[in-house]
Amino acid sequence: MDLSERPAATMKLVGGRLFLDFINTAGGRRTNPSHRKAHSDSIIILGDKLNDYFDLLAWGRHTDLIGEADLPALIREARRKEDEAASVLERAVSLREAGYRICMAILDKERPRALDLEILNREIAIARCHERLTQASDGFVWEWTSASVELDRMLWPVARSAAELLTTGDLTRVHACGGEDCGWLFEDSSRNRSRQWCTMQDCGNLAKVRRFRTRLRDAGKG
Ligand SMILES: [Zn+2]
Repeated sequence: MDLSERPAATMKLVGGRLFLDFINTAGGRRTNPSHRKAHSDSIIILGDKLNDYFDLLAWGRHTDLIGEADLPALIREARRKEDEAASVLERAVSLREAGYRICMAILDKERPRALDLEILNREIAIARCHERLTQASDGFVWEWTSASVELDRMLWPVARSAAELLTTGDLTRVHACGGEDCGWLFEDSSRNRSRQWCTMQDCGNLAKVRRFRTRLRDAGKG
């Protein structure tokens, strides 16, 4: 099974943080116009890159959370334990959507919903069970316990990354791309905090073209 051509394996990783790149496996987010706030259960997703468990594996490989050598065993395990793989995918999507709503609440300067924090806390708790302190050459580091064929292993670092962002990250640097129907999140690490787009090549250019067309049209009217 070749996973390398899947959208989850070729998407741009521009969130600036693992957790945000994970949230960005759903693109084309649009708020249901009949709801005012983006985090009130009203998100329409136009492009979802996680449609089966193998998409999740593809993303894990793409982000280097899973080594090439570990893939075949994970693929075999997922085929052998279909129900477990399906439930890992369900957890992944639920974590992603809770994460998105938490970030949007932060952007709107509101409190995230308790249920969304609960979903995240559950994943953090699972991840922590797999953390181990080990001695490295110049101190101690966190390692993941024997993870090679655990189907949910790519969710552990995602949950840890979410916890790091929320506890020690600069939340004023988290933004949603201003592109129409994009909705990707990113951490703006530019010195003058000027980043507006997920990527300049995609949403940035589209916006430029749109501004140009509007100018042409307005000039035509004059
Ligand atoms: Zn964008």
